[in-house]
Amino acid sequence: MNRQAVYETLGISKAVYEMGEAALEKLRHRFEEIDSVAEYNQAKVLAAFQKNRVDATCFAATTGYGYNDVGRDKLEQVYADVFHTEAALVRPQITCGTHALTVALSANLLPGDELLSPVGAPYDTLQEVIGIRPSPCSLKEYGVSYRQVDLKEDGSFDYDSIRAAIGPKTRLITIQRSKGYATRPTFSVAQIGELIAFCKSVKPDVICMVDNCYGEFVETVEPSDAGADMVVGSLIKNPGGGLAPIGGYICGTKACVDRCGFRLSAPGLGQEVGANLGLMPALFQGFFLAPTVSAGALKGAIFAASLYEQLGFRCVPSANASRHDIIQAVELGSEAAMVAFCKGIQAAAPVDSYVTPEPWAMPGYDSNVIMAAGAFVQGSSIELSADGPIRPPYAIYFQGGLTWYHAKTGILMSLQKMADAGLIRL
Ligand SMILES: *Cc1c(COP(=O)(O)O)cnc(C)c1O
Repeated sequence: MNRQAVYETLGISKAVYEMGEAALEKLRHRFEEIDSVAEYNQAKVLAAFQKNRVDATCFAATTGYGYNDVGRDKLEQVYADVFHTEAALVRPQITCGTHALTVALSANLLPGDELLSPVGAPYDTLQEVIGIRPSPCSLKEYGVSYRQVDLKEDGSFDYDSIRAAIGPKTRLITIQRSKGYATRPTFSVAQIGELIAFCKSVKPDVICMVDNCYGEFVETVEPSDAGADMVVGSLIKNPGGGLAPIGGYICGTKACVDRCGFRLSAPGLGQEVGANLGLMPALFQGFFLAPTVSAGALKGAIFAASLYEQLGFRCVPSANASRHDIIQAVELGSEAAMVAFCKGIQAAAPVDSYVTPEPWAMPGYDSNVIMAAGAFVQGSSIELSADGPIRPPYAIYFQGGLTWYHAKTGILMSLQKMADAGLIRL
């Protein structure tokens, strides 16, 4: 059986397969660049493992208080070395990305302090953390005020307004790297570095935190290489490599990370407690695989953009744009197209491939939402997944794929379902 025939056993027609192959021809050069970044990052991660003498004792499970947990402590040192920071907090007790960001913010902001976002509104879930949408236990309830400077019309930083917004109360500046569900571009590490340098020129002792979700290992440098005091993310996205079943990380200065440890556990206890519950093999191995897993997801994003752009759909970022995260938005223009796309992603999954995704009401959203995911880890978005709110411009947000070949299959399957529904002509 040749390759085209094996795709046919998955339900992908010859026409769709050939369209994919034609698109790939033009992506060879992009893929080489991605491989080159992955190769660099693989060496960076490997060097950190070796420097810290990772060995089998690191994989032992600890329970209870988790005192003297060598594996946990070494994992944190490995993260700190990869992100080039003084310290790191990497824990399964951090339940998700929002939790990691909450710990970083609430540990480093005190009553009377002000938090500033110079890049517009933060990710949805953070709005309740901050208290932009009223919520019990928000930072606002604890007396932390919030200010926001929106991006300029063209997506660039509004330096004059940022300078004006930084005042005596400004203690922490939060910068979200990825666009999330917004339509602005994702920032490069270099752009983030410029913004941080500007903020520090206005107020040298201000803490700069970067929400690094979906950005890890997409470039050879991280925001911590560009002056960030803290970088924060989720282990069920890029750095978990698909193997971490839970967790979050905060890498940064010792002063900031120490406080995060005290906030996560308790004042006086900090990073000394927190059993690893047997998760160390997955967290180490996932981090080891993360550069190549992230590269595969990135290839999938570019492949999707080039195919859908060719079919006339607007893609953000566009197929030829440089990449700074693994998210691909495709404006499909109709509910029917969103459903077909998601059916394809779902049908290509290794888990739950037989279920049919449907638009549904979700808490916190004012329109129905459709989601496709068939993941080993619930909600893991480094695994192949797609979702989006059913409202104009009917954009689907596509991300992940533990291997490039799986991402490719998912995208071909989405095209197949679109073609089957008469929504595209091949
Ligand atoms: C995913 C994400 C978060 C955190 O989300 P969780 O679902 O809580 O892990 C925060 N910011 C951005 C930009 C994200 O993409």
